[in-house]
Amino acid sequence: MRDAEREVFDVIVVGAGNAAFTAALAARSEEARVLVLEKASQKLRGGNTRFTGGIFRCTYNGIEDLVPIVRGNDNPDTVIVAPYLRADFLQDLERVTGGRTDPVLSQVLVDRSYDTVRWMADLGVVWEFNRAVGAVTLAGAAKVKLPFGGALRVKGEGVVLSSTLFRLAEEAEIPILYETQAQRIITALDGRITGVEVRGPDGIHILNCHALVLASGGFQANPEMRTAYLGPNWSLVKVRGTRFNTGEMTRAALATGAQSYGEWSGCHATPIDADAPTYGELRLTDKTNRLSYPFSVMVNLDGERFVDEGEDFNLYTYAKMGREILQQRSATTFQIFDRKTIPLLETRYNTATPVIAESLSELADRIEERYGSLGFRKANFLKTLEAYNAAVQEGVFNPDIRDGKRTVSLRPEKTNWATRLDEPPFQAYAATVGITFTFGGIRINADAAAIDYLERPLPGLFATGEMTGGFFYLNYPGGAGLTRGAVFGRLAGTNAARFAQK
Ligand SMILES: Cc1cc2nc3c(=O)[nH]c(=O)nc-3n(C[C@H](O)[C@H](O)[C@H](O)COP(=O)(O)OP(=O)(O)OC[C@H]3O[C@@H](n4cnc5c(N)ncnc54)[C@H](O)[C@@H]3O)c2cc1C
Repeated sequence: MRDAEREVFDVIVVGAGNAAFTAALAARSEEARVLVLEKASQKLRGGNTRFTGGIFRCTYNGIEDLVPIVRGNDNPDTVIVAPYLRADFLQDLERVTGGRTDPVLSQVLVDRSYDTVRWMADLGVVWEFNRAVGAVTLAGAAKVKLPFGGALRVKGEGVVLSSTLFRLAEEAEIPILYETQAQRIITALDGRITGVEVRGPDGIHILNCHALVLASGGFQANPEMRTAYLGPNWSLVKVRGTRFNTGEMTRAALATGAQSYGEWSGCHATPIDADAPTYGELRLTDKTNRLSYPFSVMVNLDGERFVDEGEDFNLYTYAKMGREILQQRSATTFQIFDRKTIPLLETRYNTATPVIAESLSELADRIEERYGSLGFRKANFLKTLEAYNAAVQEGVFNPDIRDGKRTVSLRPEKTNWATRLDEPPFQAYAATVGITFTFGGIRINADAAAIDYLERPLPGLFATGEMTGGFFYLNYPGGAGLTRGAVFGRLAGTNAARFAQK
């Protein structure tokens, strides 16, 4: 720390996740002297990035665009890929955010998505096809149909993405200070950023720089900020990822004059195993997610359905589903499957212990045995499943498309993938809500520069990743978070280095 204190770095990057390292590596490739600050210990380093499934949403015309990225690490003959064009990605962002996504930022995200993923492959990140989340293998089919827009993931997922980024930083001779929490931005009287105050293992220090890149994540691990911005019940939810994203640098940026932006009352929150730990654990990473619910019937402790489970593919509904679950009593729900749908469960369900039965009434008894203390209403549960089975319309069930096989006269309806629960064995998985990251943050422009309320860049201040607002509102298309962090990380690092050198 003492050595770092004596230097003036071109660029200091706050954080050590995907957004931070894409910035640090881009700045380094501009010959900048870069320092990375990580609040976590070396053992727990890497932020949410380390917990991720490693899925990066990006545009592509077809398999021919993906082959130069996976580069012999996967077999293109084993997958089916539909083109995912600029218009598709933009439309997905528009659709899931109810038209609120920032038009300038979302265009940069979309237009630079493919190129940025390819740049990461050039840096040394290894990719494969995403067969795990949102992909469909039809019974008897030799090939896997990859999810629309979410065809790529980092081989080895977030754990390997994170270790690769740390290795690349080491090879680029970028020093990293661990257990070093940035807490205040230092500015000169002319408004330029001159450094950052940190709380390190041996006390408070001021580290000097010409440009500062903030990439320290959202505020989802801070119960006080969750309560203040998301609402009262949010202080009780489980955190899916790192415990270190607590928002102090978002506050520091606001105190320095950065504009607050985006949906501060919104967040990405998904169904997770009811028995998941309070904070993410690295032995489980993202394996507590319970995202096969479009093929289930979902009920609460009162035995009632509460959403259209089949509104869309899971990658377009999972991020808002957590909020729906939070509104249910004790934030506890059950996803019910039968013999027809059990084969469609994501392999992540293997980390749970389901309730298993040979009939629906036995299933109700078993759920009561396990969850009776929470006030499970067995009679209602059976009534709901009976009404659901009676409302399911004929048609061909096809998990590969929005099949329109639906219920009629239920409230709420299930509008796709509605099959009767009528073939044993039956399985019930208890799911609660896990918060992933928050949507509100500071405002950046198309150059990843933090801007004030007059939309003037704060000289020398850049930001990327989960701490920026304006991209996602109400909901989120799966895989867009890592891409957002990398696209704007690369921009932030490049522009911060150039600013510093001016
Ligand atoms: C279980 C799980 C699975 C996910 N899967 C995917 C996926 O497959 N695809 C996808 O696109 N998104 C996924 N996400 C969302 C994901 O969190 C983001 O897309 C991405 O990892 C965020 O990157 P980031 O660099 O902005 O933040 P992070 O990776 O969280 O990095 C923030 C860093 O800042 C550090 N930090 C925080 N405060 C300070 C401070 N004051 N001083 C110094 N350092 C600080 C943290 O320790 C951390 O190193 C997932 C999230 C979770 C939790």
